[in-house]
Amino acid sequence: MNIFTDLNTPERILLGPGPSMVPSRVLQAMAHPLIGHLDPKFIELMKEVQELLRYVFQTKNQMTLPISGTGSAGMEATVANLLEPGDTIMIGVNGYFGERLCDMAGRYGAIVNRLDKPWGEVFTPEEIDAALRKQPAKVVAIIHAETSTGALTPLEGMAEVVHKHGALLLVDCVTSLGGIPLKIDEWDIDIAYSGTQKCMSCPPGLGPVTVGARAREVFHQRKTKVANWYLDMTMLEHYWGDERTYHHTAPISMNFAIREALRLVYEEGLEARHLRHRENSQILWDGLEDLGLQLIVPVERRLPSLTTVAIPDGVNDVDIRKRLLEEYNIEIAGGLGVFKGKAWRIGLMGYSSRKENVILLLSALSRLLKK
Ligand SMILES: *Cc1c(COP(=O)(O)O)cnc(C)c1O
Repeated sequence: MNIFTDLNTPERILLGPGPSMVPSRVLQAMAHPLIGHLDPKFIELMKEVQELLRYVFQTKNQMTLPISGTGSAGMEATVANLLEPGDTIMIGVNGYFGERLCDMAGRYGAIVNRLDKPWGEVFTPEEIDAALRKQPAKVVAIIHAETSTGALTPLEGMAEVVHKHGALLLVDCVTSLGGIPLKIDEWDIDIAYSGTQKCMSCPPGLGPVTVGARAREVFHQRKTKVANWYLDMTMLEHYWGDERTYHHTAPISMNFAIREALRLVYEEGLEARHLRHRENSQILWDGLEDLGLQLIVPVERRLPSLTTVAIPDGVNDVDIRKRLLEEYNIEIAGGLGVFKGKAWRIGLMGYSSRKENVILLLSALSRLLKK
């Protein structure tokens, strides 16, 4: 007698801050028969995944690989490998994920120099320059796309000021990779991490990381061992490098998935993909404003992949989201931290960024808000 029923998950329209919807080609790739992680076929696949990752990151960095773990594992890998106890990191905190970086860096014994700005605002190279003049740092960390606020910090010119002060630029591009322009080499970014379940439209489970020459040199010049065995990039380098030496068992099916998700990005083309994200967001923004709703972030720094909407007075946050899910099968998210109860977060990421989804959401919201 079995009291458990078959797994029966609904097909949701995922318009929150991630995970985004996953195309069936990616789901099917995950269902392929398992092979061993040192099988020549898997080793070939690892190479392809790395080559495709270099394409989306717009980089030639040899050390470009998917960390086994979600975006936060990618984040932790960069922090754990760059910093030794007593090193200083300057972190731009303008939302929830800057906060998380501070927590992580502190746990590895770094001196955390926070640069705070109100949620929804962004940092300019001039501000970073001025802050570094007051207090130097080994690493400067910026969140490219703050998923908690919907604000985009432009990165052009950022590395120039960071390098002028002898620091390295670390960038969180979890909600930008594959959705909005991100040019690792052209912008001279030293090290960056991302996730799979946002604009890449792959299930959560891998944390793509790319490491440039300066950061790689820092890894090799460390005096102390990385305090995290699993995320030690100099060990992972031998696993994902030419030697392919066993370190841990890569999540095989997740790598099937990311290969297919990356192939879809490649087939669409980065530019076309960025344009699609931009255009569908414009339809969303216009429609929300037509409904009399207020968008929190001004258009100049608004993220195409994530929009924050002020919840109007007298409207019940939780009730509207519950009804969107139950009656229309649509997931959007509430606010985090400072924005809790004050904002909705609507994601149009990857495969979720489609005109029909936008129109459905607008129509559903219009009906629910009328009552
Ligand atoms: C989602 C997200 C993360 C964390 O990624 P997980 O996959 O949830 O671990 C980090 N930074 C930003 C900006 C994110 O949006």
